[in-house]
Amino acid sequence: MNCPSCDGKMRVAKENFNYSSCGLPYITLQNVEVRRCEECGEDEVVIPKIDLLHQAIATSLIAKRNRLTAAEVRFLRKYLGWSGVDFARHMGVAPETVSRWENGREAIGGVAERLLRLMVATRAPARDYALDTLAELEDEAAPTRLKLAVDRTGWHPEAA
Ligand SMILES: [Zn+2]
Repeated sequence: MNCPSCDGKMRVAKENFNYSSCGLPYITLQNVEVRRCEECGEDEVVIPKIDLLHQAIATSLIAKRNRLTAAEVRFLRKYLGWSGVDFARHMGVAPETVSRWENGREAIGGVAERLLRLMVATRAPARDYALDTLAELEDEAAPTRLKLAVDRTGWHPEAA
């Protein structure tokens, strides 16, 4: 298979891949197939079971003690399959408010964040969501660092 940009030869290797294209900076996919062009450096990653990957990331985000970052709010909104307008409608806020949450100009409120977490929990029925998580949230937001590995049953996150 040749490079989609320059038609050069692609080299295939198993690597740990930073999945920043999902919008979150510290998500590492362990031992996935990466095709890299020997001519121009363009790379492509092969991500199996991508729906399960996004579910694993989402369930990790809603289980964490730190508050969500703006990028994580955006990731979860997209995970729910909603546009900014859809999300605003479900949250009962103006679309401009959602924009501010997602670009970091306004922190999502504690009640809104708990509602978002519960909305995500209802879409991830494979995992029982511990409501105690919502009683133990910190005041500060911090970006989640995860390493995920895939096997036959799905993606398995560990803290990075
Ligand atoms: Zn190339």
